[in-house]
Formats: sequence, C-alpha cells, structure tokens
Amino acid sequence: MRAITLMYHDVVEARGHEASGFPWPDAALYKLEPEQFTAHLDAIAGALCGPPCTVSELTAASSQMPVLLTFDDGGVSSYTRIADQLEEHGWRGHFFITAGQIGTSAFVSREQIRDLRRRGHIIGSHSFSHPLRMAQCSWPDLVGEWWMSVGLLSDILGEQVSAASVPGGQYTRKIAEAASMAGIEALFTSEPITKWHKVDGCTVYGRFAIQRWMSPCVAADLVAGKAAPRLRQLIWWNAKKVIKTLGGEYYLKLRNTLTGERKGNVL
Ligand SMILES: [Zn+2]
Repeated sequence: MRAITLMYHDVVEARGHEASGFPWPDAALYKLEPEQFTAHLDAIAGALCGPPCTVSELTAASSQMPVLLTFDDGGVSSYTRIADQLEEHGWRGHFFITAGQIGTSAFVSREQIRDLRRRGHIIGSHSFSHPLRMAQCSWPDLVGEWWMSVGLLSDILGEQVSAASVPGGQYTRKIAEAASMAGIEALFTSEPITKWHKVDGCTVYGRFAIQRWMSPCVAADLVAGKAAPRLRQLIWWNAKKVIKTLGGEYYLKLRNTLTGERKGNVL
C-alpha cells in the first residue's frame, strides 16, 4: 500500500515571502512564486494519467500508486492563489492549518477555511502552535496540540476533522499515537517514503517536500513514480537525521545562524 504525496507550502511573489505563511527566512525555501507553481501544476498534469486524489478517496485496495497534493502551514495563499489554480485543473488539495495562527496576518481566516472546504478541499490540522521539534514535546503537550487544533477546526467547519500533517519535520510513533487519540485518521509526515502504515487508528503517510529551487520536472518525475528523485530525497533526509542526532542543539543553532533568527520551524 503506497502513495506519492507532495508537500508544498505557500505561493508568493518574489521578495514577498512574508505575505503568506510563517515569515522566517528558512520558510521562504518552501515558498514558490506564482509562475513556478503554475509550471509545477502543468508538469504534474502532464505526468499523470488521471487527477490526483484526496485521502478520503484512498482505499487499501488502490491498485496503482495514487498521488496526493498537500499544502502545509495555512498561509493565506492557500486561499488566494493555490486553491484557484488547483481547481483550474479540476483538482482538490489538502490544506493543513496551523490552528493557532487562524485569522492572523498572512494566514487563512475562519471563513476562508469554510470556503475551501465547501469547494471540496480537505482541511486538516498542522498542530496548534507549530512546535519547533514536535518529537521533543511531552505526551500531554502532544495530545494538546492535536486536540486543540482538531477541535478548533472541527468547530469552524461543523464536521469532524480527521486529517493532519506533522510540523517541523520530526516524526516519532508517539506523535501518531497522540494524533490517533485526538481522532486523526490520516497523518502526513515529512518522511520521504511512499509506503503507508497504521499506528492505532491512524494511517501514517510519508511525503516528498518541494522547495523553491526544484524544477517542475522534479515534481513531474515524483508523481510519475520515478525512483531517482525519491531516492535523492531519502538519502538527504537520512543524512540530515544523522547530523541532527549528532549535533542536536548545535544543528539548530547553526541553521538559525545561517538563515536568521526565528522561533519555529517551517515544515
Ligand atoms: Zn509547517
């Protein structure tokens, strides 16, 4: 049981990355310019035989490798740019919202979230406060992040929210266990893998991150099922894990020094 899920963030004008999503300098690495995003979607369309699907359409019996498009953080470009462009292709996406940012500058509002859902997109949680390193959170904090965010989004939509993505990149099994306790049935990580697995009542999916320097061909090759771009992401991901394990706090300090001070993590 496998799926190819792409992880995008915001779409912003050049030199205007603070207009949508988190303003941290390293967040900008994941924000595409409008022309780039258009080219990515066109390339994906050219590589696919059918439309991407949503997690609610996935079944264990899916014979081919389904493709899903996800958008993290809940920046206002989810509403002002991304959804429109997806719909021009007849597609629907997954928007994972940082619940504690709803209605603040550069993030989607309650009404925008409701409208996205009315238009057929999947709305999910991206935690409440976007912890820097979620794997380091205590158990009560983990459960609280999922409960509060799912509760708020469910109240806004008037229906149970059951999908989520993990902020910050770090994933451990206890994050999924806490998600399952909060009623989350589909949890998307940043692990660059296609195979999904179950943790309690929650199905856990990997994703492939798209950064602004990546050409549309990378997205096309990923959704076409080519192994080379998946392997490249996996090698780099595992190398970063080793560096983080060995370097710990020094890794974060070094990265913050290189990218500018900030309080969170983009993913
Ligand atoms: Zn994030």
